[in-house]
Amino acid sequence: MNLAAILRTIWPWSLLLALATMPLVAPAEERLLAAGRLMLAGKYSEAAEIYRGAASEDVAGRVGLSRCLVAEGKHNEAVAALAGAPRENPRIEAELARLAFDRGDYPEAEERVKAALLLDSENLLAQWILGELRRTSGRLEEAFKADPFNVRVKNSLEVLDLLDTMETVASEHGVLRFDGRADRLLARYVARVLDKVYPDLCRQFGFRPAKAPLVEIFHESKGIGGHQWFSARMIGLPYLGAVAASSGHMLAMTSPNDPAVAKKFKRARVLKHELVHVITLQQTNFDIPHWYTEALAVWSEGSPRPQTWSELLVTRLAENRLFNLDSINFGFTRPASSDDWQLAYCQAELYLEYMLDGRDEQTLRDLLAAYRDGLTTGESIRRVFGMSLQRFEAGYTDYLKKLAAEMAGIEPKSQEAFPDLLQALRVAPDDANVGAKVAEGYLRRGAYPEALAAARKVLHSTPDHPLAT
Ligand SMILES: [Zn+2]
Repeated sequence: MNLAAILRTIWPWSLLLALATMPLVAPAEERLLAAGRLMLAGKYSEAAEIYRGAASEDVAGRVGLSRCLVAEGKHNEAVAALAGAPRENPRIEAELARLAFDRGDYPEAEERVKAALLLDSENLLAQWILGELRRTSGRLEEAFKADPFNVRVKNSLEVLDLLDTMETVASEHGVLRFDGRADRLLARYVARVLDKVYPDLCRQFGFRPAKAPLVEIFHESKGIGGHQWFSARMIGLPYLGAVAASSGHMLAMTSPNDPAVAKKFKRARVLKHELVHVITLQQTNFDIPHWYTEALAVWSEGSPRPQTWSELLVTRLAENRLFNLDSINFGFTRPASSDDWQLAYCQAELYLEYMLDGRDEQTLRDLLAAYRDGLTTGESIRRVFGMSLQRFEAGYTDYLKKLAAEMAGIEPKSQEAFPDLLQALRVAPDDANVGAKVAEGYLRRGAYPEALAAARKVLHSTPDHPLAT
């Protein structure tokens, strides 16, 4: 769960409190309360309409509008909504801090937090974000002081105890930390890969971080799985949905030797991906948008696009439900579904392919430089590609359409096809492909026992079927 998700669970209480303590309200306040109720019910655009009607100096109205826009994935508009409000206000500053924190712009978040606390040292949101900032940057004791109730900090302190027991070895280009009992061989392998790919990546992006990257490999210890340790290390909570992650200065991964790791993953590929984050985040002073660092990371892996991504792309293109550069970052930080999450990676990588269509790799370095100089995406696109964001996006859409046309044979996934699939399975009950698609169809509809039964049947005849597994 990220900060925004936790905050979403907090808002209803503050609103309920507001409802309970306001016996007589003026019409304008009544409208804001109505908007608050709509927002709680998830009717963001209706709520936003009411908030928009509020005067621009109305702080509650501005904050409400901004939160509705964020909920709809309109990050830039959310920032703009706050920009119109009086700046000398702690709530506005704290909201701006939250938005900056969400997009990983920690220096900006810190500046806004300080401004908010100067105006009101008791501002809860600002205090919370200050705690998160300290934790994210590794200053745990400070974080604990800023927000002692933060369970994440406690978890992170336990990770630090574990790190003390781990072995540390320096390779030519990096530093590795690992479980000396279980992962010595693995660490040697990782060091070899790192020493080989890291200098190449630095050359490719035209930047070498001042400090050698630190790689931490987490294995089961004290009865707690390697993945839980890894996750607590990265976000302070034990359920991060990935096997590896980077904070920009270091990267951590779950040991593939861990007994609880069900699926073995491609270690070299994962390492390369995370190293790209380490380089490009530092290269841009952490001012790179999420989509671009992921695009570079996925592209650097050099693997062919997974079939599931192509299917998703064709489907979403047909439904006119693709991300653009304004909405794509939320596909990573706040995906509405696992499809959204995968589509974000797929589309990010395709933005990069589109950029390289007829241009050389210097383009990638130029765009990194534009972000490092603090330009917005629109300004960066204009500087590097000499065109407006709208024209760039239109070109990208055309590029995707051409690509989708080349993916002949990939049919958009449609809900209507499910009855046809069931019929097909009745005709050919032993067809593993049809059986697997039926299982997937059940899964999408939340019919888990049926999905499991169908998948089991396929795996009985075809143990390695990719879709059924
Ligand atoms: Zn990544």
